[in-house]
Amino acid sequence: MAIGWYPGHMAKALRELETVMRKTDVVIEVVDARLPVSSANPVLTELRGPRPRVVLMNKSDLADGAVTRQWVRYLERVAGVSALPVDARESQLARKLVKLCRALNPHEDRVCRALIVGIPNVGKSTLINTLAGRSVAAVSNKPAVTRETQYVDLKNGVHVWDSPGMLWPNLKDQQGAHRLAATGAVGEKAFDVTEIALFIVEYMVVAYPKLLMARYKLASCEGSSLSLLEAIGRHRACFSRKGVVDLERTAHLVTQDLRTGKLGHVSLEAPPETELSADAPPVEAVDELSPGPSEPEAG
Ligand code: GDP
Repeated sequence: MAIGWYPGHMAKALRELETVMRKTDVVIEVVDARLPVSSANPVLTELRGPRPRVVLMNKSDLADGAVTRQWVRYLERVAGVSALPVDARESQLARKLVKLCRALNPHEDRVCRALIVGIPNVGKSTLINTLAGRSVAAVSNKPAVTRETQYVDLKNGVHVWDSPGMLWPNLKDQQGAHRLAATGAVGEKAFDVTEIALFIVEYMVVAYPKLLMARYKLASCEGSSLSLLEAIGRHRACFSRKGVVDLERTAHLVTQDLRTGKLGHVSLEAPPETELSADAPPVEAVDELSPGPSEPEAG
């Protein structure tokens, strides 16, 4: 197991989550809009029990809008859950989410206690700060920043924990692990950057060839991923010595371009029936986002 999530760390995160979950009324599950299945962790379904939840598809500014809309429809219809595409940095989000939490609160007579939960780097701290209208949680572009836990009173009938519930990324599925690495959800040291860049190139060739060609002025997407990565390196003048492409530097460039949206609006997973690419997630994986036993099925 890579990225510093050893069984001991997972057990500790689980214990902490169990403790806060007992005092939680509504669960705000943050996933990455570009990979809503791989950025979710199935352990949450059990942990959450019958508590109502809302799925926030964060970083939707980086995702393919059409695919995100398909996900929203899919999650609402198949999983029976409210799903909102969001950009956690947008202040208008606060009012909408607070309203939703209050509507979902099973205890009408008391303040709603909401827990924001998700894997590292998905945008939990950014969301808390947006909701609070000030900086209460440390935002970092590196996974796993730890904090003390207490409530933040949003002064509108909703409290959120200032320390979000940390879930570990689910790396059991290799494709999912590659997608997580591509978006930067797992630490830099956990994977080989060239391998991830080759994965990105291969995926872009299938799902978004025009974006790839436009970004790197490629005449076509023919050839192996390696030859395309080399062509990108040449185009960007990433040479280790005269005429020899520095693959690692090129790989960093490609991963950064994907993460920052310079490659365009890219989604790495589509709902099963839409089959965005050959890599669309299997239906079983999508079940991880389905409701727990005591939630009603979508009608
Ligand atoms: P956490 O580990 O889940 O608490 O994640 P953070 O809130 O620290 O955010 C991780 C990184 O993602 C930071 O660099 C944020 O600025 C960035 N980020 C968070 N939300 C969004 C979003 O909706 N869109 C974009 N583009 N970046 C975001």
